[in-house]
Amino acid sequence: MDLPVTKSRIRLLGVPWDANSSYLRGAAQAPAAIRGALRCDASTSWSETGVDTGLPGIFGDEGDLEFGNGEHWFTQTENAAEGLARECMPLFLGGDHSVTYPLVRGVARKHSGLTIVHFDAHPDLYENYENNPYSHASPFARIMEEKLAARLIQVGIRTLNPHQKAQAEKFGVEVREMRAGRVDLAGMKIQGPVYVSFDLDVLDPAFAPGVSHREPGGLSVREAIGYLHSLPAVIVAADLVELNPVQDVSGVSATVCAKLVKELVGMMAR
Ligand code: MN
Ligand code: MN
Repeated sequence: MDLPVTKSRIRLLGVPWDANSSYLRGAAQAPAAIRGALRCDASTSWSETGVDTGLPGIFGDEGDLEFGNGEHWFTQTENAAEGLARECMPLFLGGDHSVTYPLVRGVARKHSGLTIVHFDAHPDLYENYENNPYSHASPFARIMEEKLAARLIQVGIRTLNPHQKAQAEKFGVEVREMRAGRVDLAGMKIQGPVYVSFDLDVLDPAFAPGVSHREPGGLSVREAIGYLHSLPAVIVAADLVELNPVQDVSGVSATVCAKLVKELVGMMAR
């Protein structure tokens, strides 16, 4: 599937940034790996929702942000997100999870009252991780401090420690830990615009080993797709972050990402 750069309703934007990753670099290579898997002739452009993501006008590609031209990465990312949110439904490809803070900041200028549905093994709520307020361990602390979202719902969490639990309580984050079992997203009465932030490490590393922080005991691909299909409200923007191709095995995690992209597009195109 080759994606046209047209006035599509839903558009990819790569954010190849991994300088705020606390453990391993490599996530900056993810957009290229995911595009490669999307283009692969081993699968079709159809999503399970019955939407052909390859039809003209549905799904296009804006390419990657190019960093290092003198502009600060944060401002550049935020402004690009705002511009796209005003034109279409953007689907951003990280990068490490730090990109979600400027992305949500940009999208929130167009869409107020966002509900963020955040899939992750980690809550990413650290007040200050390794003295870097922009760390990929902290984006949701920054987002909630700035009141950029009306609600933050976290699914798949399995690394909640006392500090992050206190942060979640302080910000009113609705944390649904993995050990509690299946979450009924449809029953959570989500209203208004939805931003989906999908950290690939929410999946069990058996399904997606290509991440920097492998945390066993996660979702299956099937469960994750079930969650995406159960989202009740309008998805106005989404990101898929933390694929680390350096850690991948035979490109299987990139293939999983391509599948998740198609299912997200299938839901956004409703
Ligand atoms: Mn994360
Ligand atoms: Mn994570």
